[in-house]
Amino acid sequence: MSEQRYIYDLAEGDASMKNLLGGKGAGVAEMARIGVPVPDAFTVTTTASVETMKNGGTWPEGLDSQIDAALARLEERTGRTLGGATRPLLVSVRSGAVVSMPGMMDTILNLGISDESVVAVAEESGNPRFAWDCYRRFIQMYGEVVEGVPGHVYEDALTELKRERGVEQDTELTAEDLQGLVATFKELSEDHLGGAWTSDPREQLHRAVDAVFRSWQNPRAEVYRRAHNISSELGTAVNVMQMVFGNRGDTSATGVCFTRNPSTGEKALYGEFLINAQGEDVVAGIRTPRPMAEMEEILPEAYRQLIDTMHRMETHYKDMQDMEFTVEDGKLYLLQTRNGKRTAAAALKVASDLVDEGLIDQKEALRRIEPGQLDQLLHPAIDPAHGKAPVAKGLPASPGAAVGEVVFDADTAAERGGRGEPVVLVRYETTPDDIHGVIVAQGILTAHGGMTSHAAVVARGMGKPCVAGASGIRIDTAAKTLTIGDKVFAEGDVITLDGSTGEVYGEALELIPPQINEDFERVVEWADEVRRLGVRANADTFEDATKARELGAEGIGLCRTEHMFMSPDRLPAVRRMILADTPEARADALEEILPMQQADFEGIFTAMKGLPVTVRLLDPPLHEFLPNLVEQSLLVQRLELTGGDEGELKAARATLAQVKRLHEQNPMLGTRGCRLAMLYPEIPEMQTRAIIRAALAVKEREGETVGVEIMIPLVALEQELQTQRSIVERVVAEEVGDSGLEVLIGTMIELPRAALTADRIARHADFFSFGTNDLTQTGIGISRDDAENGFLAQYIIDHVLERNPFESIDVDGVGQLVEIGVEKGRSAKPGLKTGVCGEHGGDPDSVAFFHGAGLDYVSCSPFRVPIARFAAAKAVL
Ligand code: ADP
Ligand code: MG
Ligand code: MG
Repeated sequence: MSEQRYIYDLAEGDASMKNLLGGKGAGVAEMARIGVPVPDAFTVTTTASVETMKNGGTWPEGLDSQIDAALARLEERTGRTLGGATRPLLVSVRSGAVVSMPGMMDTILNLGISDESVVAVAEESGNPRFAWDCYRRFIQMYGEVVEGVPGHVYEDALTELKRERGVEQDTELTAEDLQGLVATFKELSEDHLGGAWTSDPREQLHRAVDAVFRSWQNPRAEVYRRAHNISSELGTAVNVMQMVFGNRGDTSATGVCFTRNPSTGEKALYGEFLINAQGEDVVAGIRTPRPMAEMEEILPEAYRQLIDTMHRMETHYKDMQDMEFTVEDGKLYLLQTRNGKRTAAAALKVASDLVDEGLIDQKEALRRIEPGQLDQLLHPAIDPAHGKAPVAKGLPASPGAAVGEVVFDADTAAERGGRGEPVVLVRYETTPDDIHGVIVAQGILTAHGGMTSHAAVVARGMGKPCVAGASGIRIDTAAKTLTIGDKVFAEGDVITLDGSTGEVYGEALELIPPQINEDFERVVEWADEVRRLGVRANADTFEDATKARELGAEGIGLCRTEHMFMSPDRLPAVRRMILADTPEARADALEEILPMQQADFEGIFTAMKGLPVTVRLLDPPLHEFLPNLVEQSLLVQRLELTGGDEGELKAARATLAQVKRLHEQNPMLGTRGCRLAMLYPEIPEMQTRAIIRAALAVKEREGETVGVEIMIPLVALEQELQTQRSIVERVVAEEVGDSGLEVLIGTMIELPRAALTADRIARHADFFSFGTNDLTQTGIGISRDDAENGFLAQYIIDHVLERNPFESIDVDGVGQLVEIGVEKGRSAKPGLKTGVCGEHGGDPDSVAFFHGAGLDYVSCSPFRVPIARFAAAKAVL
């Protein structure tokens, strides 16, 4: 068997080989293939890096000799020798992942320059200053990246030299200055490495390739991959490319250009360049680059070639390109091309324009849109022209911008926010108890918690900006101060949050409104034409339902009714209902609640204008409705000690006894969902009545008949659904009369047992809705409320889990439960309607999975509806 091949020469590659050659390697090969000028090169495959990773850092058999052979071929083609004393070859050793990770990994330039070759480089170019500039750049980069010499060692020496010479710019240093600097750099490197500095270019090449492999695993790259859900197993390719020199003098330059504006999508020349410089100078910001337009005057011929090439590249790739170029002595070379990263607004404009320009069709336009990114468009943003520096940074937990006065507790937030004052709720972390404050705040800032922490999930659900886990801030709730660095903010001081970047500003910044524009409207319609999955929203109020419809929801997939029991004016009646000794007493309490619930439902039904609405019957953690056990015990004790009113004491004791009786060690696995309704059938009875009466009232008033779907939560056993269904059916029959209102009765599948016995459960269900939040919680056995602050976060860092399963569905495990549920359900009842409600309904990857699993619709929070519409379309393409 011939040995595995790890290297491809430039002429052997093309755009289709991205997985093997990385984006950069495939890109340069493709450019060379279509005749764009690219320096000669070869590419070490991603396979080599993956195998090296698997072998704990040891290269696979044969890689060594294949590199030597590829180098010999490159030397042959260029007529040059690496590090040679005549006609020397200099190369760059560049990282290149499959998915572009700009600037996250390492690249070494000018490799091949040495004490022998530097003289030849000087002679050949007739420019000794340039030769020594290359040499000092090389030692600096190689020392830092490959040998781990701290960057400041070199920077300090360079700064010191410039100070001695009284110059500002590197370009003002002479050949002699630079030659001296090279000597200094070498000494510093030797000192630092205890004499182990490698000076042979061939050995340096091998070490550089290895360093690029390693840079795949540097912390920066890790963090970037995690943020963008890029697998850590992909590895990087390494491109070894002949150097071309933008630092050869005033007819040389280097730059970066986009074929369209990446912020707005406008078709206009966009980019920057620097005369007499090498690539890294542009990004490092050492000198201020000049706008592209100025290049026309300075380097007219290269400029024309570049414009021409940009044109050609767009037509070839049929997408906006982001390109690196270098001009050596007036001659243009392209060094990299990739599909340009762009804002959501630009993505929509470019896609829509490319369709008009006849370059792509509508389906291709949709493939280009990153659904998750559209979040950016649905929230007010900070005006990019602010020019202020952030004072703190946390996780970009929920996008959008918020400006408001700092408040430190939910009650104050609720009170002031309720009066219409803009407040930002600042908490160490938030709990469900803070919800009233969260609802009225402009935004949320927490010191603790992650992207799916309660604050973040809730904030995203409401389209509310949130910066979570800003670990650099200190909150003193008692003193009501927020300390960032040495700045102290008191209650009422104004801050601005950018939930899209995680940045916090210590003052009020200007905001610009959400940018739902024509491009968006146009492209999302294409998505609707393509997708099979329906998209509904989770909404519990008139306001949410209205928003959901505006954003294109085709119904409500989950209307929770808990909050209808929680509001302060209703809670007393709810408590009386739960603590009632007799069915009659319970019925009395429920009688009081019924009209209030009916009014809530009327609001939602009105907003939905005849679309289907799935109402979930009460799903309470029981304890949330009851007096606290400890507090109630203390009350009884106090009354006993003070010998207070006899009747009061008796009542308190009775309540305590009931609270004790109902107390649960583990309420999340306790009397929740239909379990409470099994104990107190009066509750589903009352709720059903309220729902039907509301639907009939709206029909009467608005002339529109909502599609009523009543959903029984947390069913584990067939008998539970059978019992609940008969209750609901009976009341429906009583209430509907001859109005012709049609009512579907279904259930949530959110326990593993329900999924596994879905065929039996389906006998009593008109529809299934997979509650993937609880299904994840019960399927993996991770508490959603606790896990994220503890081991789950660590699991993700350690790659025990690649993604938070509450954010994106665990396809292998929980996903299987969904598939089994659908399959078994439909086997018993062909055509059974199935959907999903849960955070996952708005996550593009999960949506793709649900499409594949054959569900009929997904339901997500209103602000994620447009994202789900795009994701559902992409799943088809
Ligand atoms: P990154 O992925 O961080 O952009 P690159 O490999 O693209 O890293 O290289 C960093 C800089 O060096 C870029 O500006 C690039 O254009 C420049 N560069 C890379 N290879 C060469 C080369 N062979 N000749 C001249 N400049 C190069
Ligand atoms: Mg680059
Ligand atoms: Mg549930």
